[in-house]
Amino acid sequence: MPCQVYINGKFYDQQDARISVFDHGLLYGDGVFEGLRSYGGKVFRLERHLDRLWDSARAILLEIPMSRDEMGQAINESLANNAIEDGYIRALVTRGAGTLGLDPNRTSDPQVVIIAQNIALYPDEFYENGLEIITVSVVRNHPEALNPRIKSLNYLNNILAKIEGLRAGCVEALMLNHRGEVAECTADNIFLVSDSALLTPSVDAGILEGITRDAVIELAKQAGIEVREQTLSKHDVYTADECFLTGTAAEVVPVVKVDSRRIGDGKPGPITGDLKDRFHRLARS
Ligand code: PMP
Repeated sequence: MPCQVYINGKFYDQQDARISVFDHGLLYGDGVFEGLRSYGGKVFRLERHLDRLWDSARAILLEIPMSRDEMGQAINESLANNAIEDGYIRALVTRGAGTLGLDPNRTSDPQVVIIAQNIALYPDEFYENGLEIITVSVVRNHPEALNPRIKSLNYLNNILAKIEGLRAGCVEALMLNHRGEVAECTADNIFLVSDSALLTPSVDAGILEGITRDAVIELAKQAGIEVREQTLSKHDVYTADECFLTGTAAEVVPVVKVDSRRIGDGKPGPITGDLKDRFHRLARS
């Protein structure tokens, strides 16, 4: 279904929604974005997404040309104008149009674009049977080069990993960091269950601090599950009892095979199932 796209305060029919080919968002991936989810017309953790968007912009010295309240309103209007209940929303801010040189000082007018669509969910089978993923050779960006905490418009690192995963028949792929430690997947964070404790790499491993990740950590603690943010190796993954991924679009999705090795008994585990259900309820509450 064609949608109405928000650009700098106005709504345009999808086919008329355009920005300049001189925009540094296009020329260099110079900009930031968020992916948000709505349930029953209400955005899940809107404030956290706005925090992260503003932090990403600050980290790349980009001033967002509107207030947080205005951005929140524009996101809600995008849902309302498109009559979307269960949606996926992409909000992005580009550096704006400039010269062909890198210099961001030669750009003007950062562009704010919001696209709201109905969510294309993963098939039920992924949740019932679990995913098979591989560890890819593409290393997650070094935090001192381009910090994965910044949700920048340059997603090539993740795209290269995704291509490697897809070529191996996997829709998600595990990336290690420059030290060879487990980092995250191309668009999802990773969790392990080992001896009934929930383990996940800390933000220091060089990952995006996922909003679903944070919600799952809270839910696990509320459920009395021990949660440890710690360094994880491939060995930890291979010997875990359970594994799952979290993300705005995916929510909580079980992983049953990594690098063609069975995780646990090769079926989605009980703690994964419990957290999946708890997240499902939280998001729809
Ligand atoms: N890691 C990466 C690289 C991502 O792009 C995403 C999706 N935004 C995530 C993790 C999951 O984050 P969230 O739960 O905030 O969607």
